[in-house]
Amino acid sequence: MTWTRIEIDLDALAHNYKVLKKRLSRPTEIMAIVKSDAYGHGMIPVARRLRSEGVKYFGVSKLWEAVELRNAGIREPILVLLGIESSEIEQALENDVLVTVYRKELAREISEKALKHGKRARVHVKVDTGMNRLGVPFKSSFDFLDYVGRLEGLEVVGVFSHFAVADELTEEDRSFTIRQLERFTEVVRYAKKIDLPVSHFHMANSAGLIEIPSAHFHIVRPGIALYGGYPSGYFTNTIDLKQVMSFKTKIIHLKKIPSGEFVGYGRTYVTGRETVIATIPVGYDDGYSRLLSSKSEVLVRGKRVPVVGRVSMNMITLDVSGVPNVSVGDEVVLLGRQGGEKISAEELAEQCNTINYEIFCSIGGLKPKVFISSRGTSS
Ligand SMILES: *Cc1c(COP(=O)(O)O)cnc(C)c1O
Repeated sequence: MTWTRIEIDLDALAHNYKVLKKRLSRPTEIMAIVKSDAYGHGMIPVARRLRSEGVKYFGVSKLWEAVELRNAGIREPILVLLGIESSEIEQALENDVLVTVYRKELAREISEKALKHGKRARVHVKVDTGMNRLGVPFKSSFDFLDYVGRLEGLEVVGVFSHFAVADELTEEDRSFTIRQLERFTEVVRYAKKIDLPVSHFHMANSAGLIEIPSAHFHIVRPGIALYGGYPSGYFTNTIDLKQVMSFKTKIIHLKKIPSGEFVGYGRTYVTGRETVIATIPVGYDDGYSRLLSSKSEVLVRGKRVPVVGRVSMNMITLDVSGVPNVSVGDEVVLLGRQGGEKISAEELAEQCNTINYEIFCSIGGLKPKVFISSRGTSS
């Protein structure tokens, strides 16, 4: 079926990388976060293009993602942000990935297994500076660094933390971010004092990269901004990003119906006049949220038209009465540009009360993707 496709504009990805790189104080490197299939954009083509643009570090959530990158020929350092299970230690060592550690038991096990293989495992310690999600709690982090520093099979090459509200610029959130940064700075000072062989301290996500130069350290870890998404509404006018993902399909049926007719499941929509309804072959199965029923707009012949009625599993109905010469086979853009108009992930996110991150992940899904690049197009 070729009606529907996700287009990934790798040139836009390269553009975003360059724009972000310009924000950096010189010796800082970019660790491209490509977890969750590069936020739905396709991990391997994304990683390959970023590497060719000069990216030297990659971050994923899980070990299997790192192994997939290795199998695709990515030789650069890869950090597994969530850490690993005991049963995965051997595989992590074989694939030479950087493992995140935050529990003493696992750190010790990794050290023992590494020594057995005559190796030292390179790890990054994650410190929780206030988010209370993952990482060694700030107060225990000094003791933890002492502990892992003494494990002979480990080489602590990185220490990092993560911001909870770097994307919010209210005064209260700003001061929380600053408190996190101060705590991290204390940890950095301690790691240096006890002579850990740390070459990379890092803290900044996209928001931190864009807005908080003092959080840049040795590495920054952008995800969303590489894909052209703004970390929050505060950022839209601060940096020129290009959305990488587009979602396109075609009209497969058209009909003119009188006033007073219902459209779709649940009879939630009633026509107030004679209406031309276009049906398109995508739905919530394709990651287009049912919460967008009778709320969102799509683009047809360069015009915005409303989604009317419920979003079904595989179909959506549109009111195209205002589109002259509308025809079966016309391209419909649900995310991305057409003519002078644009539907952004931020727009859809607001309409279904979520964030652009989730829009990319759900629409990106596992569907056929077409990778567009001035260096040639591929599927
Ligand atoms: C996902 C993630 C990032 C990237 O965050 P963005 O807001 O997408 O830039 C950075 N660091 C860690 C630890 C993450 O889990």
